[in-house]
Amino acid sequence: MQKAVSYVRVSSKEQHEQGYSPDAQKRLLYEFARSNGFNIVEEFEDAETAKQTGRTAFTAILAYVREHGIKHILVEKTDRLHRNFVDYVKVEDLIKECDVTVYLVKEGTSLGRNAKSSDKFMHGIRTLMAKNFIDNLSEETRKGMDEKVAHGEYPSKAPLGYLNVQDPITKKNIVAVDHKNRALIEAMFTLYGTGNHSLQSLIDELECKELTGNLPNGRKLNKTTTDHILRNPFYIGHFQWNKEIHKGAHEAIIDSDTWQRVQDVLNGKREKQNYPAQHNVIPFPFKGVFTCGECQRSITAEIKKGKYIYYRCTKYQTDCTQQAVKQEMILEEAEEKILTPLSTISDNGIAYVVEALKQSLEEKRGWHNTAYEAMLAEKTRLKNRLDRMYEDRLDEKVTEEFYETKRKEYTDRLTELDTKIAKHDRADINYHDFGLRILELAKNAKNLMKIATPQEQQELLKFLLSNSTLKDGKPDFSLKKPFLQIAKRSPLGERSAWGD
Ligand SMILES: [Zn+2]
Repeated sequence: MQKAVSYVRVSSKEQHEQGYSPDAQKRLLYEFARSNGFNIVEEFEDAETAKQTGRTAFTAILAYVREHGIKHILVEKTDRLHRNFVDYVKVEDLIKECDVTVYLVKEGTSLGRNAKSSDKFMHGIRTLMAKNFIDNLSEETRKGMDEKVAHGEYPSKAPLGYLNVQDPITKKNIVAVDHKNRALIEAMFTLYGTGNHSLQSLIDELECKELTGNLPNGRKLNKTTTDHILRNPFYIGHFQWNKEIHKGAHEAIIDSDTWQRVQDVLNGKREKQNYPAQHNVIPFPFKGVFTCGECQRSITAEIKKGKYIYYRCTKYQTDCTQQAVKQEMILEEAEEKILTPLSTISDNGIAYVVEALKQSLEEKRGWHNTAYEAMLAEKTRLKNRLDRMYEDRLDEKVTEEFYETKRKEYTDRLTELDTKIAKHDRADINYHDFGLRILELAKNAKNLMKIATPQEQQELLKFLLSNSTLKDGKPDFSLKKPFLQIAKRSPLGERSAWGD
């Protein structure tokens, strides 16, 4: 009988489902062990709680296997073993370094040293990771700086109906509803949404109803401020910052249906008054994603009948024959052709990606170390030379002028080296994070798309896609390289559009 260990994990979600116990997993593994000649010498079990994400048994099993020379790990299925790509890398290391085989009992497969690999694919991933990393570094930096905003913290003065206050517990600056003016804001949106008001008649009615008595500093409403309030997505829980819409942490006062109705009324009024149609405050998910498949002009978005979003060719100086396409059609295609394949990447697919990523990191680290060591060596060399030259100067073997020129040359180069060395350290860390994030993003793309704001949807699509076209009512999506490679590994992707 060969020695084996088993690993069981119960997620926090499962613990909330009634009648669930880890025994079912244990029984399955025990049966498998018995019929395949394994002797389970140790059982490991993790039960996650929402608060505690650390998995002690997972860490313990990795150590135990190494220490006791165990060659077989039994687990129900892949996602019991690793919840994220960092875990995956750890398991991969174990397989490679200790010649361990992991049996995914329910899936009827195993992971071992001899798993097949595709060099072409790995090469593709390695290349793109390197390039993408550079492309995205500046983006990542910007994101870090806007972290507050990303967490929904509004970094500016709250609009009418809200107050900037300090959270009594966390002592953080937050935005709270101003209850003295809540009724005013609600009435503004409800009344204007009926379409029976001009801005002036709205203000008159609000004053008549004595709702305007609590305006800060005794100010009065005028048409400009009223228009501004009615267009502000802050009241539905979003806010605008750096020309982008973010999901705020503050409470919404207005529901999004009412808010949208008000936007329609505002935009309708504008058309009648012969103003150029204003762009909707909420951006369109696919805007900027496509060019026209017939005439290569850009594709723009518009709202028809107040609620349907259409995408159409701008037809700038062409006699393009393309018709406008409804957003639902494009969304459906996007789901089928890109989001589902990305989200359903197989465990094998992930294994390829992770392997490629790891190799790429090792290569980079190898290069990194060589370059790093070369710089350290040069630093030592320069310092020694400086010392020697100083002695030469003392012995008057060199002139004052020669000494000064050389000294400046060497110290300049030393400063340059120090900067480069510091930069290197940072780059290495970011590179690793970025690769893992790409994989997480791919796997979650479909869900992200469902919960994202239109602004976030647009960002996500632009991140995933390049050079996509729209023609005869059909989008032709072109995934960026890393995602194309990932989609190709998906069981759906292999069958459909992304196959070789
Ligand atoms: Zn066109």
